[in-house]
Amino acid sequence: MKPFEGMNQLGHEQVVFCNDQSSGLKAIIAIHSTALGPSLGGCRLYPYGSEEDALRDVLRLSRGMTYKAAITGLDLGGGKAVIIGNPREVKSEALFRAFGRFVDSLGGRYITAEDMNTTEEDMNAVRQETRWVTGVAAKQGGLGDPSPVTAWGVFQGIRACLDEVYGTPDVANRTVAIQGVGSVGFHLARYLKERGANLLFSDIHEGNLKRAVGELGGDVVPGDQYFGLKCDVLAPCAIGAVVNPKTIPQLRVPIIAGGANNILAVEDRDAADLTERGIIYAPDYVINAGGLISVNCELRGFSMDKAMEDATNIYSTLKTVLETAKKEGTTTVQASDAVALGRLNRAKHSSQ
Ligand code: NAD
Repeated sequence: MKPFEGMNQLGHEQVVFCNDQSSGLKAIIAIHSTALGPSLGGCRLYPYGSEEDALRDVLRLSRGMTYKAAITGLDLGGGKAVIIGNPREVKSEALFRAFGRFVDSLGGRYITAEDMNTTEEDMNAVRQETRWVTGVAAKQGGLGDPSPVTAWGVFQGIRACLDEVYGTPDVANRTVAIQGVGSVGFHLARYLKERGANLLFSDIHEGNLKRAVGELGGDVVPGDQYFGLKCDVLAPCAIGAVVNPKTIPQLRVPIIAGGANNILAVEDRDAADLTERGIIYAPDYVINAGGLISVNCELRGFSMDKAMEDATNIYSTLKTVLETAKKEGTTTVQASDAVALGRLNRAKHSSQ
């Protein structure tokens, strides 16, 4: 893929190739859109097979951030950065400081954060060079771990889906099966338990399962039985691509709504298959936007309470998406893209 070809396909504003020979930094920053505000998105460190793979990934991910911010109603644009390299070999303070200088050179058009294979410590190095970085630890005045906010948004999304199926958002006596009881999954389980839901857990980490069952009750389900469970909601909160042509025929639930990114292996294909089977899918970028909401509140100096309040709105956002899908006869993925695009287009026209 040639850079301008890729940018034109997805509608990018700017792509910056960053090269710092002394630290070994090779990074690409993609700014998809600043129509709604400064572009924001994490910095991923990954051993890409080729520069083209890295470019393709950063273009795809930054566009996703534009849609996520737009549908969530945030005054943020979409951006993302990738650093090419093996996390076990290339990480150094010099590398992240060099990256920070490139971020700084954009004067706030791109704001970075942690992502796959980058940590709070790495962002501390970035912060030495630029103020355009978020995800600050609570002890340094930030909002800290965003997963309680993410899980609260997922909880609200589950309520919206239940309302669609059963005519009431009440979770009491509904059974929710959570795959992955790590940060997001555990907080989600807590919110559900506090409101009377029954819980099922599946995880590859024995310790996390023990913590969940010990603190919250509920039953453990073997991983290979998860997608065949007969319950009200499957909430994947672990890894991506778990809903695919192999697992879809096993499904016996009316709702898939979880916090994991990229739940569908191939978005359009799998969303269409679920729609045909009458299964409601809560698009990941709508339901797991609590993390972005948390970062947005941190940027603007707002409190954790405000972040939780904003994440409560995921209920009404998802309701709009579900209604749009029903009205237009589309998948929920197509409906959420349409709602996000609507807000973006309105912003573009009002600024002309
Ligand atoms: P985490 O690492 O804290 O928890 C993930 C859990 O999933 C762990 O308990 C792990 O053992 C389990 N797991 C991993 N592979 C599994 C498998 N094959 N089957 C069953 N369980 C498995 O991660 P997290 O922060 O809770 O994030 C979970 C998901 O939510 C990820 O996809 C992440 O990208 C997404 N997400 C997280 C946030 C956030 O605020 N943390 C925000 C948006 C999206």
